[in-house]
Amino acid sequence: MIPKSQIVNLPVYEPGKPIDDVKRELGLEEVIKLASNENPFGCSPKVKEAIVSQLDNLPIYPDGACLELRAALASFLQVKPDELVFGNGSDEIVMLIARAYLQQGTNTVMAAPTFSVYKTNAVIEGAEAIEVPCIDGAHDLDGMLARVDENTRVIWVCNPNNPTGKMIGEQELVRFLDRVPSHVLVVLDEAYAEYVKSDAFPNSIRLLESYDNLIILRTFSKIYGIAALRVGYGIAKANVIDKLDRVREPFNVNLLAQKAALAALSDQKFVEECKRANAEGLQQVYAGLDEMGVSYYRSETNFVFLMPERNTREIFNEMLQLGVIVRAFPGAVRITIGSRQQNETMLEALRQVLVPARQ
Ligand SMILES: *Cc1c(COP(=O)(O)O)cnc(C)c1O
Repeated sequence: MIPKSQIVNLPVYEPGKPIDDVKRELGLEEVIKLASNENPFGCSPKVKEAIVSQLDNLPIYPDGACLELRAALASFLQVKPDELVFGNGSDEIVMLIARAYLQQGTNTVMAAPTFSVYKTNAVIEGAEAIEVPCIDGAHDLDGMLARVDENTRVIWVCNPNNPTGKMIGEQELVRFLDRVPSHVLVVLDEAYAEYVKSDAFPNSIRLLESYDNLIILRTFSKIYGIAALRVGYGIAKANVIDKLDRVREPFNVNLLAQKAALAALSDQKFVEECKRANAEGLQQVYAGLDEMGVSYYRSETNFVFLMPERNTREIFNEMLQLGVIVRAFPGAVRITIGSRQQNETMLEALRQVLVPARQ
C-alpha cells in the first residue's frame, strides 16, 4: 500500500495520560491533571440536564446544520447565522480550513511555539508550514508578514497564544491585518478569549466587518468545560464559511454536543464565575512562582508557561511521581490553573522538584 508520503513520518499526537491510569501505575490516591487547560470547575449544571433530556433521541441523526445552536450563538455574538460554522471541536475547524485552503505548492505561516494542530494539518495537505519564532512568547507579526508570498494561503494567529499565554492587542492586530494581502486567510484562534482580562484584547468580531479574509475560532472545550463533547466554531464572512461547509462531513457535531453547547451558552453566570476564579488562581500561582524564583510569562489564559532552569522532561516526570500532570515543552513547562486546592498541591510539588532541599 502507498499512503500519502507526507504522513509517513508525521508524529502521532501524544495525549495527556488519563488520570486513572496514572493512579494505578503509581499507586497514588490523588492525581491532578493540569496538562490540557481543561476547566477545573467542570461545566454548568444545565449541561447535564440537557444531555439527559435527549437520551431517547439517540437513534436519530443530529441536525447537520446545528440550527438551534446556530441561532442562539448568532444572537449571542451579534453575527448572522450564515457567518458561523460548527466543528467536532475547533480542532476540526482547523482541519476544514487546511482541507479547503491548503495543498501541495502552497504554504502557510504560523508562530513557534504555537498550537501544534495547525502544522499537522498543513503537512497532511502537503503544504509547506513556515514557522516564525515568537519573541518573548509573543507572535512576531512583522516576521510572519515578511514570510508571506504569492503561494501563502493561510496565516495562523493564536490569541492569546497557546502555550505561552501571551496576547496581541487590538492596535497591533489591526496594523497586521491591514498589511496581510487579501489572497491570504487569517485564522484568529481565540480558544481562551473568555478568560482574557486585558482591555486591549481585540474586539475581533467587529473586525470581521472590515476584513473579508478573517476567520475567528472559539470553543466550548475551555471555559465552558465540555471538552469531552467536542464543540467548536468559526466566525467569518459567509464566503469563507461556504468553503468550509463544502469540505465538512454532514453530521460532524453530534446531538448531545449541540444540546450541551446550547445549555452551556445559556449559563453566562457560570462563565463569569470561572473567569473570576481563574484570575484569582493566576495570582495564587504567580505568588508561588515568584517565591520560588522561577521565570514565567504573565498569562491572559487559564495556564502559565514557566521557563525553569532545569531539564523540563525531568520536571515533568518528577511532578508526575508526586501526582501532578503538567505539560513539558523544550525549555518550558505549561501548567493549567486549577482550583485553589489544586494550585496549592501543584505549587508544593513544583517546590519539591525545583527548590533543593535545605538540610
Ligand atoms: C484547546 C485548543 C483548541 C481546541 O479546542 P477543541 O475545540 O477542543 O478542539 C484550539 N486552539 C487552541 C489554541 C487550543 O488551546
